[in-house]
Amino acid sequence: MECPRAALFDLDDTLAPTLQAPEPVVTQRLLELLAKMPVCIMTGRDFPRIQESFLGELASSPDVKHLYLLVSGASQGYRRNGKEWEQLYTFDLGEDDRRAIRAAIEESVRETAVLEGLPCYGERYVDKGSMISYAMLGVPLPRGITREWDPGNAKRGALWKNLAPRLPQFDVVMGGMTAIDIARKGINKAYGVKWLSERLGIPAGDMLYVGDALYEGGNDAAVIPTGIRTRATSGPQETLSIINEILGSCADKKTG
Ligand SMILES: [Mg+2]
Repeated sequence: MECPRAALFDLDDTLAPTLQAPEPVVTQRLLELLAKMPVCIMTGRDFPRIQESFLGELASSPDVKHLYLLVSGASQGYRRNGKEWEQLYTFDLGEDDRRAIRAAIEESVRETAVLEGLPCYGERYVDKGSMISYAMLGVPLPRGITREWDPGNAKRGALWKNLAPRLPQFDVVMGGMTAIDIARKGINKAYGVKWLSERLGIPAGDMLYVGDALYEGGNDAAVIPTGIRTRATSGPQETLSIINEILGSCADKKTG
């Protein structure tokens, strides 16, 4: 592997199991990586949730200034500024947007009947301010739920195919293990890559993106047209070896 100038990671099923914190060893490797290059975590989760889940250890490192958090599907950006997390940008949805999104979801659910026979563990409609997340099994998910809840992504894929054309004025992607995420048009992980590329003055092609959903309609696939180098992962275990590979290829590198 050629040493990238910045490393970007999806969170759910890439750095950590769905909606859980990364293992301590993953956080440790991220800290090692931060000593070498800017690191970005790009996720459908919202900021309050990742803050309470695992940011403490990263925040206490002097290298945290090289960490960028692009959350809620990159519709919001954060960075540590001294002792505080500073919001760098946000693209909030309006009330009309919320109404249109809710109505379209209800129609698609009715028409596809994909929820029939599925358990529901909590709230399905989750409003993250700048992104609406529709979690097909509800949240929070009990532990132990795997991708097997929807073999071949059949039910979620069907809902996504029905819903996306109803909301052409929005970005509609599959995120995490059960969700469909909706944000303002053009506000997706590709936007996040371009924003970071401009912010750092590093061409997208010199950066590496690691994610588990680089397949068609997956929330990571949006980054592909930016020209960023991509690496698919099957989960946190493989991601750990990818990080080790990056560290190995960047042995002499240090962040300024
Ligand atoms: Mg993921």
